[in-house]
Amino acid sequence: MDALAACIVCTRGLYDTETQTCRLCTEKVAADLRALAGPDGLYARLADSLAPGSGSGGPAVSGSRTAPLPVRLGPLSLAARGGIVTVLQTWLVDWYDLLGYAHPRWDGDLQQQLDQAVGRLLNLLPWAAENHGAFDEFCSEVAGLVHQSRAATGEEAPPRRIGVQCTCGRTLKVTLDTAGVRCPGCSTQYGPSEALRLPLAERRAA
Ligand SMILES: [Zn+2]
Ligand SMILES: [Zn+2]
Repeated sequence: MDALAACIVCTRGLYDTETQTCRLCTEKVAADLRALAGPDGLYARLADSLAPGSGSGGPAVSGSRTAPLPVRLGPLSLAARGGIVTVLQTWLVDWYDLLGYAHPRWDGDLQQQLDQAVGRLLNLLPWAAENHGAFDEFCSEVAGLVHQSRAATGEEAPPRRIGVQCTCGRTLKVTLDTAGVRCPGCSTQYGPSEALRLPLAERRAA
């Protein structure tokens, strides 16, 4: 069997030591899980951003004669039961089932349950990366949770723009996931890969 097996997550070719998922993808999802957990993790910061009046802009709530402002919905639906915690616990139950373990018990408040679920998922991650048929779905779901949490806590950095130089000399700003760009100077249309193959524009002095 000499055909190069491909990672089920990123389709890179696998090394002999890798069964179905490459090390980079396994490390990526482990890092995503760790980003969610702990007192400084994204989940804890979601709870912080739930406090009424926190964040920028909103009017002060106390003393108002109208109903207090509802908490922001994004963080709430992620932080509540049924949000991140339940998604991770559902995966854990699935993995325990496959391994023939007894159904896991959840202890403590939601933050403690989240930390517990993350810890157990990390412990079983090497097994899941090698054996779980839907490990790619797990990876994309966890990446989605991290992405949504960062967006809800206002941490999402805008996509990084790079300046590339059109053949006419004009600088075009593109993101790495660009759908293509049209030069306003010479009207040349570039597809995504063409745009990213243009030479980098010289950086202006900051
Ligand atoms: Zn991979
Ligand atoms: Zn041009």
